[in-house]
Amino acid sequence: MIRDYSKTKWWGIDRRKIHWYPIIDYERCVGCGICFLTCSGRVVYDWDFERMKPIVARPYNCMVGCDTCAKMCPRDAILFPPLGRLRRWRDEAKAIVKARKKIEELKKKLTSSQ
Ligand code: SF4
Ligand code: SF4
Repeated sequence: MIRDYSKTKWWGIDRRKIHWYPIIDYERCVGCGICFLTCSGRVVYDWDFERMKPIVARPYNCMVGCDTCAKMCPRDAILFPPLGRLRRWRDEAKAIVKARKKIEELKKKLTSSQ
């Protein structure tokens, strides 16, 4: 069964409000399949065996900030929002403050269990 990450939260924000996912430029795509096979964990892509091209079937399963498939694409045919947009989402979600808090909590847990 494929997990649906679209209903999860990203640093407390509904995942569907964060528009981070791949967009394929089909003019550039040569149908090598590496994006589809690379994203086996989140299963963002399906494969169209008739056209021999990827389909972004589950965009909100994409891990926010990941762009591995774009980096692997031999044709630079996979687009993501710019880094500045990602950082604005990070700041709107107060992710850095929340991360620090989580780390402090983990530290407390670890030191109290010793
Ligand atoms: S990696 Fe790039 S060229 Fe290959 S199938 Fe995916 S989008 Fe197309
Ligand atoms: S960026 Fe990462 S999680 Fe998102 S579709 Fe590509 S490989 Fe999958």
